[in-house]
Amino acid sequence: MAVFGTVFMPQMALATFENDTWSDTKKVSAESIQMHPGAHVLHYSSTCFEGMKAFRHADGGIYLFRMDQNIKRFEQSSRLLNLPKINTDQVESMIFSIVAQYSDDVPEPPGSMYIRPTHIGTEASIGKAAAPSLTSMLYVLLSPVGDYFSGGARPLRLLLDETGLRCAPHMGMIKSGGNYASALGPILQARSEVQADQILFCPNGDVQETGAANFILIDGNEIITKALDSSFLHGVTRSSILTLAADLGMTVSERDISVSELLQRAAKPGVEAALSGTAAVLTPVGTFIHNGEEHQVGSGEAGPTTIKLRQALNDIQWGKAEDKHNWLVKVK
Ligand SMILES: *Cc1c(COP(=O)(O)O)cnc(C)c1O
Repeated sequence: MAVFGTVFMPQMALATFENDTWSDTKKVSAESIQMHPGAHVLHYSSTCFEGMKAFRHADGGIYLFRMDQNIKRFEQSSRLLNLPKINTDQVESMIFSIVAQYSDDVPEPPGSMYIRPTHIGTEASIGKAAAPSLTSMLYVLLSPVGDYFSGGARPLRLLLDETGLRCAPHMGMIKSGGNYASALGPILQARSEVQADQILFCPNGDVQETGAANFILIDGNEIITKALDSSFLHGVTRSSILTLAADLGMTVSERDISVSELLQRAAKPGVEAALSGTAAVLTPVGTFIHNGEEHQVGSGEAGPTTIKLRQALNDIQWGKAEDKHNWLVKVK
């Protein structure tokens, strides 16, 4: 199977914003887009995106998972970046129609069709470093994906970083390109210096998230994660996992966690840690690296509750368990 995110469906749905209006949706080649080299996005990073999935059920039906949440976040990201206001009804129908067009190409579980709505500022004006783009382009790109863990779910090594930031604090809840570029230098350094897979950003000891996933701690019957604030990305997977944990009778604690509490708890047998996100669902964390020391999390292996929660979410997505929270929308 190809590397995650490198295969694309030949066409995408696209709309442009000009003269204060959205164009009709067009289906265009996903090979290229045309843009002026002075386009706002290329200089001043007026860009945001979403990541969601469509799933194939055993009866052949194709379903979108919590699309409303992704569109809401897309609207919020666009607003906070001062991009043109998106038309949420139009975006919804763009997603529906392009997924329907390629419904035969939606892989069987554990694969899925990854959906990447993208919104960029296109105004050709390099003088607008401190002004919004008045024109934009919005497209919905599709990428069929296999099991993220085709190589087996090896528990991750996370460097706990108490001094750096993933992105500027007022950008945390925006799914915007610049944030990933901002985190890349520190992540590459952590990979080469301490063989970490990711950095868990913990500014001033406050445990936030990694470069592209939320962080969850599981201690017995309690699941703990940072409460929503504007400093980090509000994951749809995070919210889904917390809901399923509550359904299973677990205590859900949304509150701040300090690095010292994290290390204290990690030393207890049976404690589990995981990262949550659409691409990888729930990924076990086996080791924290802090001030040059390695701290094993619980057994260091994927924990039973992590596996159970991940399975519970996959079962709903794959149509093997009842969709009690009405998270799925049928495409066809
Ligand atoms: C996308 C993303 C997440 C996970 O969000 P999901 O909606 O669960 O996919 C978490 N953190 C960051 C920084 C992200 O970009």
